[in-house]
Amino acid sequence: MFATLSDRLADTFKNLRGKGRLSEADIDATAREIRIALLEADVALPVVREFVAAVKERARGEEVSQALNPAQQVVKIVNDELVSILGGETRRLRYAKTGPTVIMLAGLQGAGKTTLAAKLALWLKEQGKSPLLVACDLQRPNAVNQLQVNGERVGVPVFAPEPGNGVGDPVGVARRSIDEAKRTLHDVVIIDTAGRLGVDAEMMKQAVDIRDATQPDEVLFVVDAMIGQDAVTTAQAFLDGVGYDGVVLTKLDGDARGGAALSIVSLTGKPVIFASNGEKMTDFDLFHPDRMAGRILDMGDMLTLIEQAEKAFDAEESAAAAAKVASGDFTLDDFLQQMQQLRKLGSMSKLMGMLPGMGQFREQLANFDDREIDRIQAIIQSMTPAERANPKIIDGSRRSRIARGAGRAVSDVNQLIERFTEAAKMMRQLASGGGMPGMPGAPG
Ligand code: GDP
Repeated sequence: MFATLSDRLADTFKNLRGKGRLSEADIDATAREIRIALLEADVALPVVREFVAAVKERARGEEVSQALNPAQQVVKIVNDELVSILGGETRRLRYAKTGPTVIMLAGLQGAGKTTLAAKLALWLKEQGKSPLLVACDLQRPNAVNQLQVNGERVGVPVFAPEPGNGVGDPVGVARRSIDEAKRTLHDVVIIDTAGRLGVDAEMMKQAVDIRDATQPDEVLFVVDAMIGQDAVTTAQAFLDGVGYDGVVLTKLDGDARGGAALSIVSLTGKPVIFASNGEKMTDFDLFHPDRMAGRILDMGDMLTLIEQAEKAFDAEESAAAAAKVASGDFTLDDFLQQMQQLRKLGSMSKLMGMLPGMGQFREQLANFDDREIDRIQAIIQSMTPAERANPKIIDGSRRSRIARGAGRAVSDVNQLIERFTEAAKMMRQLASGGGMPGMPGAPG
């Protein structure tokens, strides 16, 4: 997502670099390039116009003419304006003051509602809530079952119509689910509703009826960011047809040009609250306009990265590992454990993409093979505990046994042991020099 836009904008800024003052012609050229970049990214025309006008006006103003580095000042202005069209402040979810909070999901079929319902449930659980999923998509043959499967994956119960009781009555199911949540002490109810392939009057009516029956605290419009300009028309249709409080963008991991994401907030006046960026249940988070802008301008997304690291790294385990490194008895077992922690963070290529300045390595990142970590794990797991504790005893015949066990070549085993020995040596040096890293470092 946003790769082309990022590259385009980077080129634009490159042309400004080193300029002591910006002439009117510089500003015009920059504005023109930004305009093209946004249009190519599929941003809606009225939004582009407004954006470019704002950047131009500010670029002519004092903040730039008096800046030590005008080019950087322009980047800052573009960043500010991006944050602004993405909605400004991060919009947090609103919870009910009394009784269960009701969240209703609406959107077209295939938008990712059912997947999202489970992701949201998991996220709420992590916030200390006790969610209940409600299956009101009684249109798509497999939707109830899909929600049940996903609910099970995230450990959240699903309220669904029982055969013979409400199978054709999504409004009744929605209404009963609130009583069920009260009875079973769930504090958030997430209602998955039926979509259609296109905007459809019957679907809108059903959504309106469910809304009226449950009085949601938040109606969230779920939209596939990959559908380009159609996302904007659909967003408008749902706004007119059902109304909603916030937007959820899904499939941000795709290679769509991202313009929809940049247009929806401005055109509907509704904030994006969540973003979904993958098929895994954890590929989901609050939407932060400032971080998204930072990512588009390739200023990295360190905050998200740090938050993910905090979630994945257990503080106690990390401290124990650090102590081991300090005492010099860091074993292959510890190494394996760290790899597994690192793995919890998600895909390496996705993680590295959040680091500032990594945009230029986009192609290499896309080729980074996350399975490399699995291969290393397989090799370590084929060793005996004694070998893991003391790799020195791993002689030639042990090496071929390990290679066979892991389904790898002996040279892979050699390489791993070499790398580990090197790393362990470095860690010991670091530790004795007092320069202990606070967090376990990346292996390899
Ligand atoms: P619904 O019809 O709105 O309930 O949509 P589904 O939840 O069934 O999702 C439709 C398809 O999109 C499924 O194949 C999902 O696995 C996929 N999907 C959902 N969210 C994402 C996402 O964030 N990224 C990617 N790549 N796929 C997603």
